[in-house]
Amino acid sequence: MKQSEKLKSALLDAVTHDLRTPLTSIKASVTTLLDSEGGHRTIELGSEGRAEFLAIINEETDRLNGFIEGMVQLARIEAGSANSSGKLANVEEIITIALERAEAVVAQHHLTLNIQRELPLIRVDARAIAEVIYNLVENAAKYSPPDTTITITAASHGNAVLISVMDEGKGIAVESREKVFEKFVRLDGDRTDGLGLGLAIARGIVEAQNGTVEIKSGDNNSGTKVKLTLPIGEE
Ligand code: ATP
Ligand code: MG
Repeated sequence: MKQSEKLKSALLDAVTHDLRTPLTSIKASVTTLLDSEGGHRTIELGSEGRAEFLAIINEETDRLNGFIEGMVQLARIEAGSANSSGKLANVEEIITIALERAEAVVAQHHLTLNIQRELPLIRVDARAIAEVIYNLVENAAKYSPPDTTITITAASHGNAVLISVMDEGKGIAVESREKVFEKFVRLDGDRTDGLGLGLAIARGIVEAQNGTVEIKSGDNNSGTKVKLTLPIGEE
C-alpha cells in the first residue's frame, strides 16, 4: 500500500512537470503572437518571426499529446494490476522505449549501449522506469557538451539488474550528490531551462519499486554516472 502511494505521488510530480514545460512555451508564444496583432500592437513580428512561434506551438502541442498518451497507458497498466510492480519487465525493452523518446534530446551526442545478453526480467512498472531512464538521458545530454559520449549499461548483479547512464560532462560534486535528488534543487550556474524535478521524480519512482538510485563519478573520474538497481523477479 505504502509503495503504491509513493509511486502515485511520484507520478503526479512527473505529470505536473511534463505538462507545465510545454504549456509555458505555448502560452508565451500565443501571447507574443497576440501582442503583435491588431491596432494595439506592442511587438513587431515579421512573417519569419510569426512562423517561428507557430512552429514552437506546433511542436509543444505534439509533445503534450505524446505525454498524455503515455500517461493514459500508464493509468491502464496501473488499473490492470493492484500492485504496480507486480509484473515482470524486460530491461532491453525499457531502454528502447526511453531512447525512442530521447532521440531528439541526444541528437548532438554519441550514444553507446552496453547491455548484457539474456538479462533476467525485473519486477517493475516498465513505463515508469522508462520515464526514469529518459530523465537521466535528458540530464546527461543537457549537462555535457555536444559531441561527447553518453553510455548506457545494463548488467545483472546478484538479485538486481544494474542500469547506469554515464556522461562526459562537468560532473556533480560529491557533496551535492544527495542534494540534487531533492525537489526544485538545481546546482549553481545551471542556466539551462529546467525545474530541478527530474531526479526527484526518478528517485520517487525507483524507490516505490524497491530499487535504488545514486550518483557516482563517470569512469576516469570525470563526468557523471547515475546508477539504478532494480529487483529481478524470481520467476
Ligand atoms: P528538470 O526538472 O527539467 O529535470 P533539472 O535537470 O535542473 O530540471 P534534475 O534533473 O532534478 O533537474 O537535476 C538537478 C540538478 O542536478 C540539475 O539542475 C544539475 O545542476 C544537476 N545535474 C543533474 N544531472 C546532471 C549531470 N548528468 N551532470 C551534471 N549535473 C547534473
Ligand atoms: Mg533534469
